[in-house]
Amino acid sequence: MTSIDGHVHSPYCPHGTGAAMEEYVKEAERKGIGILVFTEHAPLPEGFTDPVPEKDSAMKPENVRAYLEEGARLRREYAGRVDVRCGFEVDYIEGYEEETRRFLENHSEAAAHSILSVHFIKLPDGWFCLDYSADAFEEKAEEVGVEHLYEAYGLAMERAAGKPFGEVNPPVLGHLNLIHKFRRRIRPKTDPVNWTGILEKAAASGYVLDFNHAGLRKPDYRETYPEPWIAEEAERLGLKLQTGSDAHSPEDVGSGFAKE
Ligand SMILES: [Zn+2]
Ligand SMILES: [Zn+2]
Repeated sequence: MTSIDGHVHSPYCPHGTGAAMEEYVKEAERKGIGILVFTEHAPLPEGFTDPVPEKDSAMKPENVRAYLEEGARLRREYAGRVDVRCGFEVDYIEGYEEETRRFLENHSEAAAHSILSVHFIKLPDGWFCLDYSADAFEEKAEEVGVEHLYEAYGLAMERAAGKPFGEVNPPVLGHLNLIHKFRRRIRPKTDPVNWTGILEKAAASGYVLDFNHAGLRKPDYRETYPEPWIAEEAERLGLKLQTGSDAHSPEDVGSGFAKE
């Protein structure tokens, strides 16, 4: 079976490395990965202010064209060696569905290779980026309660699992339980999220799950997203899982699942 890395970033990610997209493709070829999907963070919807201090969560709108063009060039260049595809990692942000849908409609070809993820949750005092840093997460958890962070995430993920963008909805649901990223450091006594319920909804929507191996590299988590029991539950419900590294640098392509 052809191996796939379905979740890879690029130099257009302002919080990643500057390595060229071609370096990721070369690494995929070296590791025997047959399909490489670039899923750069789509520009955040107009009117939404990036809550992280550096405002670098997503690519700039003016780079979208160059990104897609380079993806298309690499697809031609490596045809027969690596099947290069180019999509986006799109944020599900409640209240910005219209803007997000418009972006997907304007890039429907790339939408078909995209991932829908939740990185931002809505709290009483504004938006919060849940995977930015362990310190920020812990600080916020002390402020509003870690249970509340989990609950807000669970609600957003449940909405995302319902395929809110219809025809142009990304076919893959990103790192389902990203909220667990810092749980070796801080976690609620009992997990309030109904993971099985979310999986059932994702299955009914016909999603593929991002089997994201970046979690193995995170010191406060060290598991895949989803973690083994959720992955098993997903398979029981008929969901397909697609391996992804979430590489932000070329050497991480295939990390955790490809042979060296
Ligand atoms: Zn992500
Ligand atoms: Zn990613």
